Amino acid sequence: MSLCEDARTLQGDLVDLRHRLHREPEIGLDLPRTQETVLRALAGLPLEVTLGRSLSSVTAVLRGYAPGPTVLLRGDMDALPVTERTGLPYAAAADRMHACGHDLHTTMLAGSARLLAAHTDRLAGNVVFMFQPGEEGQDGAGHMLREGVLEAAGQRPVAAYALHVTSSGLPQGMFTTRRGPILAASDTAYVTVRGAGGHGSMPHLARDPIPAACEMVLALQTLVTRCFDVNDPVVVTVGSMHGGTQHNIIPEEVRFEATVRSFSPSACARARDGIVRVVRGVADAHGVEAGIDYQDGYPATVNNAAEAEFVADTVAELHGEERFTWAAHPQPGAEDFSRVLDEIPGSFVALGATPSDADPDSAAYNHSPLAAFDDAVLCDGAALYAHLALRRLTVEQSLPTR
Ligand SMILES: [Zn+2]
Repeated sequence: MSLCEDARTLQGDLVDLRHRLHREPEIGLDLPRTQETVLRALAGLPLEVTLGRSLSSVTAVLRGYAPGPTVLLRGDMDALPVTERTGLPYAAAADRMHACGHDLHTTMLAGSARLLAAHTDRLAGNVVFMFQPGEEGQDGAGHMLREGVLEAAGQRPVAAYALHVTSSGLPQGMFTTRRGPILAASDTAYVTVRGAGGHGSMPHLARDPIPAACEMVLALQTLVTRCFDVNDPVVVTVGSMHGGTQHNIIPEEVRFEATVRSFSPSACARARDGIVRVVRGVADAHGVEAGIDYQDGYPATVNNAAEAEFVADTVAELHGEERFTWAAHPQPGAEDFSRVLDEIPGSFVALGATPSDADPDSAAYNHSPLAAFDDAVLCDGAALYAHLALRRLTVEQSLPTR
């Protein structure tokens, strides 16, 4: 049987597993029930399993019939603090939800372990399955790297792949990736503007931090348009701003927070320098003080060009050319798979999971309380993970200098 046919026979089990995970979403680095469910799904397979120490990760190594190189496959497992409103029969009841489809990634990765375990006779080398908590801002990938996921098979992987579903934007069953940057770096600036409080009727006796903070917000937007190449863009959004208590009191301080997205290390560094300079300069001009705490988040997710092409070829071979499209632009979202791709050549791949009855152009996107992901993609995603590993190990054997 082909991988696709094998995967289709697993579809019922994959749907059950996904619904079980979906009903019990967990957030952050500590996902005990999810970890237990994954271990149960992997039970009986010939895997070397290691559990995380600082997080509830699962690393599983499958060894083929003969020694050879190693490929890493990653699926994230964490949910979001969103109250589900999809009305699906398996919807989560609490104030958390698998609104980014990580329940599908976990399921597809577990499915691929089952598929590959049945084909170790075709596997010359090792596959590392990286079940990762804490993708949604807790840097689970960073934790797993520090705990040695890249050495799990006794040698560093030659390639790494991650799948990510979307609940809209892509037709159901369509795979996409791109060469080079595919997702943004995401940093955060926390700014505190300190002046001197006073009576609202006599601003000359105070030092009002509010106009200074407002000017900073506008100056940051001008920085974006004047200091960055349109072909290497930057996004700065001030998403939170707080100051003052009522109309006739000049407050002591104003605080605001901005998210900063960029797609290259140089734009990332220049955004940081520019934001610090603009905030300090505007504060100086107004005679107020500004404190800035600039926190680096996930780096940009950058696909290796040859690996992105390998993904395109693998999708075409497995599911047909019509199931693959090149992404025209990177997306400004961020991903900690970037940490893995900073170490190992590989590719991040998106898979359309728009529900059959929804329009990909208007369906609710990932992170929405209405985001729904179609189970129909589970077996195809599992088959792709498995085929990427099988095919990549074969390519590595026949092209050792690649
Ligand atoms: Zn996600």
